Amino acid sequence: MTGSAGPRYKRLLIKISGQALAGNKDSGIDSATVSLVAKRIKSALDSGSQMALVIGGGNIWRGATAAAVGMDRATADYAGMLATVINSLVMQDALEKVSVVTRVQTALSIQSVAEPYIRRRAIRHLEKGRVVIFAAGTGNPYLTTDTAAALRAVEIAADVILMAKNGVDGVYDSDPNLNPNAKKLPFLTHMEAINLRLGIMDSTALTLCLDNHIPIIVFDFQAPDSIERILKGEQVGTFISSSD
Ligand code: UDP
Repeated sequence: MTGSAGPRYKRLLIKISGQALAGNKDSGIDSATVSLVAKRIKSALDSGSQMALVIGGGNIWRGATAAAVGMDRATADYAGMLATVINSLVMQDALEKVSVVTRVQTALSIQSVAEPYIRRRAIRHLEKGRVVIFAAGTGNPYLTTDTAAALRAVEIAADVILMAKNGVDGVYDSDPNLNPNAKKLPFLTHMEAINLRLGIMDSTALTLCLDNHIPIIVFDFQAPDSIERILKGEQVGTFISSSD
């Protein structure tokens, strides 16, 4: 812990699901919610850490859902990746409204709206204090934005991935909405998280984090100051790390 010397983590990657931008709606984008998310990110940024974001697209489109009703899976997944670009642009706008300088980098090239993903350039932006939003997932179908978060975290040498959950303050041994006796698990290893199949993150993403020793913190994004508390070194949510 660094205490007053600086934030606990120098570089973080926050994964925000598309649904987190929909507020109380089933789908789409709720502008008040997006503004709130932007304000949370701004105040966390003031702690002095470098911040990258990966935003999902599930509030607009999920490839697997479209494939289940007959659409070609790869095409459906490309549509899903484009949904993440929409969310990323919306988030960029909201962040810039609160004076946070951002860059969107896309894994699929759409150069008239955003930069292409270039790892070294992304790192340079982070070093300059800009928030980098990685859009279009990994650029590959059959994957998810959880995997994009894990991959980009490894590539930019992030110290931790923050998995932002809405209204759930960590990982439980069963669904706390269904089981009043569900127990919160403050610590887990990556392997336990994979084996327990608790739906924290998909297994491809967890495996990537396991192999590359990237810790993950699952926390409630709605709780005020949650990121700031994490950056101060407080135990917030569930901490997932390697056993060695
Ligand atoms: N997707 C993909 N490859 C990726 C990332 C995303 O094909 O690397 C597609 C996939 O169809 C997915 C959709 O984009 O359903 C939206 O992403 P995701 O479901 O991860 O969003 P979230 O659940 O986090 O909102």
